[in-house]
Amino acid sequence: MSFNVFIGLEIHIELKTNSKMFCNCANDCFEAEPNTHTCPVCLGLPGALPVVNQKAIEEVILTGLALGCQIPLFSKFDRKNYFYPDLPKGYQISQFDLPLCQKGNFQEIKIRRVHLEEDTAKLFHETINNEKVSLIDFNRSGVPLMEIVTEPDLRSAVQAKEFLKKLQQLVRFLKVADADMEKGQMRCEPTVNLEIENNGRKFYTPLVEVKNINSFRFVEKAIEYEIKRQLEEFEKTGVEKQAGNKTTRGWDNKNQKTVLQREKEEASDYRYFPEPDLPPMRFTQEQIEIIKKSMPELPEEKTKKLMKDYHLTSQQVKDLIGDEQKMAYFEKALPVLIKEKIDFPQAVNLIINKRIDITKTEPEDLAQAIKSKDKTPQLPQEELEKMVKEVISNNPEIVAQFKKGKVTVIEVLVGQMMGKTKGQANAAQIRGMLREKMI
Ligand code: ZN
Ligand code: MN
Repeated sequence: MSFNVFIGLEIHIELKTNSKMFCNCANDCFEAEPNTHTCPVCLGLPGALPVVNQKAIEEVILTGLALGCQIPLFSKFDRKNYFYPDLPKGYQISQFDLPLCQKGNFQEIKIRRVHLEEDTAKLFHETINNEKVSLIDFNRSGVPLMEIVTEPDLRSAVQAKEFLKKLQQLVRFLKVADADMEKGQMRCEPTVNLEIENNGRKFYTPLVEVKNINSFRFVEKAIEYEIKRQLEEFEKTGVEKQAGNKTTRGWDNKNQKTVLQREKEEASDYRYFPEPDLPPMRFTQEQIEIIKKSMPELPEEKTKKLMKDYHLTSQQVKDLIGDEQKMAYFEKALPVLIKEKIDFPQAVNLIINKRIDITKTEPEDLAQAIKSKDKTPQLPQEELEKMVKEVISNNPEIVAQFKKGKVTVIEVLVGQMMGKTKGQANAAQIRGMLREKMI
């Protein structure tokens, strides 16, 4: 018996627009007193009318473009009807058949759709005066919520976790969301099932959607648990998937397992219909082009550029890209580093390892600090030239790789040179000499 895992992800991300999705209330539910950012619209009072937040729409389209999606020129909002105390209207304004973005591809995973909806209020279950009570904070009600749905292309828990990390990095780069999972700004519901092959026949286990996951680590654990559980369940009962049927289970972190929440759920249960209080949306190709032009450099391109142009290692690039403040500092310092001929990897090391306080150190001072440390005696130029020639002729394979475009291998040669000179040379200068000889 062998098996394959199928995982699709449904990801909700709160956008960090100034105001909420359909009203003027401030969109900053963190650290605010409960129920201080509310109005008749986001409280769901009868007769209150929604008005669309244009910025939220543009941000979803920008994200869709970064995910390689098609952007249809016609879209609309729909009502998703269900009852829950955190949803006073009795319906969520969402999108059903005509989402803002569709058919994309990110990290080699197909994106089915990206749509826009409103977040619900937040429930707190507490005990007050020995009485169990539920409290509701409406500050979150009506916060713009972007939903990204992938095809079931993911094959393992680790892959799902890595995909989510890349997605988080992307929306942070686009500056549309902070996407902190611990704060609930990014929430993920994986749908998992297995294809089991036994004696040449294929079986499919029932689809299970897992809710209540609030960290990358739990994503991995919940999926791993679910794979094991489904295998055991199938061996015991042999129950197979039925078309259109999906079970919901919740991740119970205390007991490290998933627990059954709902047996069956279908789109028809929600009685979706077009939102009558909002007109449908029409876009022109020009409007989409303008959004496309505002796209910043994305993490993948940036990584390549930093490795190629500044000889940073992939770990250094990872550290820089993962920290907006450090990245901004490096970019601010670049003109000075270039002017003063400072070794980039050396400067980045200081920035990453917090050996300097980047909030207090001017780039000029950073350059000086590196220069004064570099006062080890230097070998004369002719001697260095000779050594560079030797190193190049001793490493024909590395030189060939470099010439083929794998420019980071130059670091191997720099390392050899530093060894040969016993450190009596400047790494940036050595690198420059090596490059000159090899190009
Ligand atoms: Zn409001
Ligand atoms: Mn949703």
